[in-house]
Amino acid sequence: MRRIQAFKFELMPTGEQQRAMRRFAGSCRFVYNQALALHKERYAQGAKKLGYAALCRELTAWRHSPETQWLSETHSQVLQQTLKDLERAYINFFEKRAAFPRFKKKGQHDRFRYPQGVKLDQAGSRILLPKLGWLRYRSSRKVLGEVRNATVSYSAGKWYVSIQTEREVEQPIPQATSAVGIDMGIVRFATFSDGTFLAPLNSFRKHETALRKAQRAMSRKTKFSSNWKKAKARVQRIHTRIGNARRDYLHKATATISKNHALVCVEDLRVRNMVRSAVGTPEAPGQRVRAKSGLNKRILDQGWYEFRRQLQYKLAWNGGWLVAVPPQHTSRTCPCCGHASAENRRTQAKFACVACGYEGHADVVGAINVLRRGEALFSSEGQDDARFAHVPRGNVLRGKVSGAARPPAVGTHRSGSSVVHPQA
Ligand SMILES: [Zn+2]
Repeated sequence: MRRIQAFKFELMPTGEQQRAMRRFAGSCRFVYNQALALHKERYAQGAKKLGYAALCRELTAWRHSPETQWLSETHSQVLQQTLKDLERAYINFFEKRAAFPRFKKKGQHDRFRYPQGVKLDQAGSRILLPKLGWLRYRSSRKVLGEVRNATVSYSAGKWYVSIQTEREVEQPIPQATSAVGIDMGIVRFATFSDGTFLAPLNSFRKHETALRKAQRAMSRKTKFSSNWKKAKARVQRIHTRIGNARRDYLHKATATISKNHALVCVEDLRVRNMVRSAVGTPEAPGQRVRAKSGLNKRILDQGWYEFRRQLQYKLAWNGGWLVAVPPQHTSRTCPCCGHASAENRRTQAKFACVACGYEGHADVVGAINVLRRGEALFSSEGQDDARFAHVPRGNVLRGKVSGAARPPAVGTHRSGSSVVHPQA
């Protein structure tokens, strides 16, 4: 099995290298914005959208034009990668995964990527980046595999390099043999079909007060003054801290789950849609925007999307599977008799079936339903996979639910479900 992995380190650049990296990032931003402006202009004129190859030709012209000749000081492949990013942003927009691409601003996601030409000297803790020379980095772990590409990024006063490698690893066989369903929520971050749950993360809310204070202090300073810059650095530091706490939490949670289970079933929530839909569009403004944006903020805070992303690749590394199931009525369907009704869900936490009288915690019921659907989906789509032969099916919940267990109807790919296993 081919395993692609990224290794991220802090760089220790010289002053000259720092200046060059700032220039690279700035040139990339310029090229991105220039290309986006060109796309918009052509769209307004009714002209066809330029493809990547045509944009690369534009880029060559910019590099040779007297006004923007400074672009030629930046490695050309790095600039081309920026155009690739713009192409990707358009595809994500067309496929409704992301909003329309926006112009990049200075100080936001300053980064650039080398598609090749990177040399790594692990013994000397240094890396060769074309046109920048050898850079020292803080080696915190061994890089495994063959170097494919490298991304340099700037965040809260520090430069980082993320080295992506590729290597052949043996097809892993999951150590765990169990299956679990997960219900994602606000009150509980994740509830498992076995009744256990993870407390909410809320790192952002904890830091929110500090962040608000720092932002207020920044707004009182004269823009671009040295005190303003200091205040701005403080705001960025708090943002970094929030991000670190969140990542740490999610990594620990997903590592445990993917180690303990061979099949993990989650709701296909389309997190990005949920996050975006509250405000709506000018033609169709959203309803209850304030309440929903509160909910949306918390969804983002909880990092559901990141949670699922990590589960997916960690399970793949351990030889396990992630199954995303259609979320319709998971919290309203009785796991005992299959009766689906809004009345089953008495309150946020309490589930009581009006048909058979089964009672339970609403989130646990949701997780059980997610597991049932996931298992049914898996046995219809993934049962030929030998690696999964030893994972028990259908009997995972024995003892948890009384009565005949009839799995609810299961959707197909068309209704938004998917068996996700990228490296298979
Ligand atoms: Zn029932």
